[in-house]
Amino acid sequence: MSSDHEKHNKKKAKAAKNGHLADTQIDLSGLSGFPDFATLVARSAPAPANAPTWEGPVALVGARLIDGTGADPIDDATLIFEGDRIAAVGRGADVPVPPSATVFEAHGMTLMPGMIDCHVHLRGQWGYNILRNLQTPPSLATLYAVPNAAATLKGGITTVRDAGGTPAGVKIGIERGLFPGPRMLVAVSFLSQTGGHGDSFMPCCIDLGHNLPPDIPYGVVDGIDAMRHAVREILRAGADWVKLCASGGVLSPADSPESAQFSVEEIATAVYEARAQGKRCMAHAQSNRGIKNAIEAGIASIEHGIYLDDEAVETMLKKDVYLVPTLVAPLDVVALAEANPGLLPDYAINKARHVIADHQASFRLAVEAGVKVAMGTDTGVGPHGGNARELGLMVRHSSMTPMQAIIASTRTAAELLHLNDRLGTLEVGKLADLLLVSGDPLRDIDILADRERLALIVKGGAAAHQRIVAETRVMAVGV
Ligand SMILES: [Zn+2]
Repeated sequence: MSSDHEKHNKKKAKAAKNGHLADTQIDLSGLSGFPDFATLVARSAPAPANAPTWEGPVALVGARLIDGTGADPIDDATLIFEGDRIAAVGRGADVPVPPSATVFEAHGMTLMPGMIDCHVHLRGQWGYNILRNLQTPPSLATLYAVPNAAATLKGGITTVRDAGGTPAGVKIGIERGLFPGPRMLVAVSFLSQTGGHGDSFMPCCIDLGHNLPPDIPYGVVDGIDAMRHAVREILRAGADWVKLCASGGVLSPADSPESAQFSVEEIATAVYEARAQGKRCMAHAQSNRGIKNAIEAGIASIEHGIYLDDEAVETMLKKDVYLVPTLVAPLDVVALAEANPGLLPDYAINKARHVIADHQASFRLAVEAGVKVAMGTDTGVGPHGGNARELGLMVRHSSMTPMQAIIASTRTAAELLHLNDRLGTLEVGKLADLLLVSGDPLRDIDILADRERLALIVKGGAAAHQRIVAETRVMAVGV
């Protein structure tokens, strides 16, 4: 090193003597001892986290297959994927394994599509803590989306719709392979009326909603023109969905889950502006009136839906509106409060406790009526990566079977997100987003929430998580 340095200095002195170096010129010759620029760029480029992990075809053999279509499970199935796409799937006897394939023996496991969570908040730090929020720079809050995204993916969730608070840059970062995470659709902001669920103006008169980076536009608006402007700003910031609050909520300081928020005209303005750019709206809607207003105005999904009634359910069926129940969210609020006395404001704990029974009854009503249910959890309110606990709750609190809970978390969720042409089921030509779970979730749905049992998680042909090793087989070809 030091001799290199001496050589460099001698070279520099010689060059100066020859008049090659004017005082104002920058001498780059000292960089010659380092790797060249192209090498440095290659080193600093991220590992392409989204590129397929394996060369050639990959075969998963022997598992019980739940393909997500609603068809009966197939035992001893084989699925072949190559690159990012599924090449063949079916009974083992019907699907030959190519001789060049990387083979995973998966007897005793269940193979199913990667799960889709239609309501997360990846930038939200788990453990609602106002004091911590006050001490968190917005840039740091955004960086927390990185481990949160990784935890979500390792929980078997290969696609999410982020329901607000996460900028489009997090989605783009995952797409570029900067860090691991699920595929994302983002709502970026959440729209709320003054004093509504998304208004963070605290009783002390400090507005905690003004600490957002510029790529998360401020969402507190009143009136049609303000709504129009805000939706356009949010779409400009890269939103795939527009999220608005049509009722009060649990964690907001100044409202009730039983109140309606925004007028039908205001919500319809958001729907119009979103549609004009090929996008749709999702509504945080807990109160009965808020749910009905949102449906009337043309939103695509009701989030939480705590106070449904027969009339609301009927219009959901008629207008093809989905329910994203997030049963786990109020339970997580109560569990957090019980584990940390004094952490949450009393209003939040009381509201969470108050809504739980009505929430579950409302969900039951929707399921019995045949409303389309797409899985969602509100993680950020609860711990990231624990998303699959929602499936167990769906089964316990309604007539849903484990198979129906899986469909809600795969095919139906993909339909709501308009991703069903490439995701949600294990069919030839679709993206290889899949899970191998040890055991049978049709017998015990809760195993999906047990990370120790997730043996393999594949997103677009890339291993997102792998606890089993591929076998090298000597194939008997042409014998
Ligand atoms: Zn939410």
